[in-house]
Amino acid sequence: MAHDRITDDVLALLRAQDPEVADLIAAEGNRQATTIELIASENHVSPAVMHAMGTCLTNKYAEGYPGARYYGGCEFHDRVEQIARDRACALFGGGFANVQPHSGAQANTAVFMALMNPGDTFAALVLKDGGHLSHGMKINFSGTFFNPVFYPLHADPAHPDFERIDYDAARRLCLEHRPKVLMCGYSAYPRVIDFKRFREIADEVGAVLVADIAHIAGLVAAGVHPSPFPHAHVVTTTTHKTLRGPRGGLIVTNDEELAKKIDKAVFPGVQGGPLMHVIGAKAVAFGEALTPEFKAYSRRVVTNAQALASELTRLNYRITTGGTDNHLMLVDLRKRSETLTGADAEKWLEAAGIVCNKNAIPSDTRPPKVTSGVRLGAPAATTRGFGPGEMAAVAQWIDRVLGSGGDQAATRQVRAEVAALCERFPLPGHGRAATRAPEVAGRR
Ligand SMILES: *Cc1c(COP(=O)(O)O)cnc(C)c1O
Repeated sequence: MAHDRITDDVLALLRAQDPEVADLIAAEGNRQATTIELIASENHVSPAVMHAMGTCLTNKYAEGYPGARYYGGCEFHDRVEQIARDRACALFGGGFANVQPHSGAQANTAVFMALMNPGDTFAALVLKDGGHLSHGMKINFSGTFFNPVFYPLHADPAHPDFERIDYDAARRLCLEHRPKVLMCGYSAYPRVIDFKRFREIADEVGAVLVADIAHIAGLVAAGVHPSPFPHAHVVTTTTHKTLRGPRGGLIVTNDEELAKKIDKAVFPGVQGGPLMHVIGAKAVAFGEALTPEFKAYSRRVVTNAQALASELTRLNYRITTGGTDNHLMLVDLRKRSETLTGADAEKWLEAAGIVCNKNAIPSDTRPPKVTSGVRLGAPAATTRGFGPGEMAAVAQWIDRVLGSGGDQAATRQVRAEVAALCERFPLPGHGRAATRAPEVAGRR
């Protein structure tokens, strides 16, 4: 395939100049091609998105915005960035988009700077309940410069909304603390977010509602998860998770005054020159996300996540909240085995070619580096063509590895079966070189 040839040519060019780095890139290509990626925040971009990043757009300084740059020679950069902005607005139904944030955390930084003064209060969900580092962790800028207060999940197992957002408690918290910003949108929350409800709370206390849809952006763009608009004042997101674009961030709003403040906060507030090669790739990815194929892909992501969750449930794992509405799930391992930890599960599964991350479950009593759960997601496996049947097979492999206590023979057997399935579902554009394991010094 032509796509594979491009990748092979790029690797050959690199290898001629810098074999040390080229071999590592090829080895990583091989790892991705021969393992099943279940990390909920990851995906495999298309060859077009991949190669848009490796272009001359990287050579240019384009500080400022289209039509108002601080450097000459930006004619084509202006047009590329404008396409990215227009497509982002079309995808999310917003009037103003800033496509320059280098990452999701940078997007949140800029929005916080635009909306708050140091010391101001905002409300969010804490990391251990499924929130994000940039939503008020003490070790992050958001928890250092601002004053976060956290709303809870329903903690009563007898409540029908157990482990879901407790909107009444969120309202009470906001009435008590009067936050300037109310954050919703999460990193490990498997259920639909009620943006309308959050807006009612925000309006009652005069807060700005910010929806960070980093994880679900692709599902939102495809209409598979309800849109934060018209409820949210500002939407932030990453572009590389379910949206399947290059690594990066994005901010969208319908409020022109807010848009002006946000543009100033991104540049010159928290960033210098934009990564124009990444913005080119964002434009390409947004173009892909506007297609009917992407809608169908996003529907399959949810179907696949649900297939994985239901087979794991059948195999005696507890899925928090009892299942999933989106692309991810949190698996509580304690039901299957009291002694099984998230850290062991992550390590054993990686050895079997199934890649995921340990994750605290709500009310976890184990420390964050151990945990009692794993977070699993379907976006990457769905991109390579897996359907519900393959996801059920993945669940059974997971159970064989974890049930064996990480036994070497069982792991080796599953690893071989995983590799055979991956060969039937090749990653588009990875190149032939990437599917042959190169010899890399120090390779484990
Ligand atoms: C992933 C994520 C981010 C941060 O994205 P980076 O690109 O890693 O900075 C922000 N918010 C949420 C909710 C996320 O899940």
